[in-house]
Amino acid sequence: MTGIDDPRLMEAKALPVQAVVDKIGISGLSARSGELIGPCPLCVGRDRFGINIRSHAFQCRKCDLRGGDMIALVQGVLGLGFKDALSYLCGDLPDSIDPRELERRRAYAKRQAERAEAKQNMWRKQAVDEARSIWARALPGSRGVVAAYLRSRGIVMPSIPDSLRFLVDHQYGKGKVPYSGPCMIAGIFDRNGELQAVHQTWVDRKPPHGKALIEHDGETLPAKLVKGAKKGNVIPLITPPHADTLVMGEGIETTLSAYVAEVPGLNGAAFWAGVDLGNMSGRMKREPGKRYSGVPDLEDGRAFVPPPWVRRLVFIQDGDSDPAATRAKLRSGLQRAMHFNRGLVAQIVPAPTGCDLNDVLRGGGHV
Ligand SMILES: [Zn+2]
Repeated sequence: MTGIDDPRLMEAKALPVQAVVDKIGISGLSARSGELIGPCPLCVGRDRFGINIRSHAFQCRKCDLRGGDMIALVQGVLGLGFKDALSYLCGDLPDSIDPRELERRRAYAKRQAERAEAKQNMWRKQAVDEARSIWARALPGSRGVVAAYLRSRGIVMPSIPDSLRFLVDHQYGKGKVPYSGPCMIAGIFDRNGELQAVHQTWVDRKPPHGKALIEHDGETLPAKLVKGAKKGNVIPLITPPHADTLVMGEGIETTLSAYVAEVPGLNGAAFWAGVDLGNMSGRMKREPGKRYSGVPDLEDGRAFVPPPWVRRLVFIQDGDSDPAATRAKLRSGLQRAMHFNRGLVAQIVPAPTGCDLNDVLRGGGHV
């Protein structure tokens, strides 16, 4: 029994991430919005390493430790080949397996998968509850640092969208980093208009109120964090009553830059931020030899699909990341939208290379 018939493959797939992490001896990871995050087992650091609890994909931001499942994690951390890694996780493969033993292993794998899913659902619910409590505490964006922050990014708006709020003094992350300060809170909503997550941007206390510089243990931390369940959900910034065009960029700034640019042909359009590229693309089908196929996996029930009123969908392509991967992801999202929304016209509007639309507006780019 070898290859795809090997029951240990199924078993390895169903092993809870935490069990594998403990077995290999990776320490210092903590659960954060569906991921285990912490020091890299190979090159250390503070929070450069993460494992997705649902998909089992893992990645280090510094070294080349990355992969898609727990067998690959064992291979990477312990320097083992595939077969040895599999034996390490599930024991040696006997010459023949008793059908009852096979059945037992299958049942075990199924139970573990169900348990992992239940745990994942519990974490998601907790994160959504926290996001809702932050949103409820936040004040209308028209009254605080939001306008100043947007102006510092070159965006001057006649009025601040309802989906942007703020907190005067908001604790960073989960409180492990001793930093708090003014924060722009953007609401991330699902297709029923219910708040599922918040996008938080910590803002410098001092004028011109740009992004806050948050440093801890010699590392600069991201000034933007998402809390809650963002998948498939959006930040609805501008939604005119009779819009039939939806313009979507990754971030709040890129999307609003496109809005205030008053591009002819986009008059009366809605402008929503998709939070991040992966969120706009949804899951992609895997194709051999390709990292990003650009073909949507239509089974992904949590991917973004535009509402039925959208007849034309425009994705803004930021020029500041890997162009081929970016384009593949945007294509995946647009194709999914066209599949579920027949007759939809889809477009990608590229921003100039090396900067995003927001940089162009601030005079930093070359048009
Ligand atoms: Zn590393």
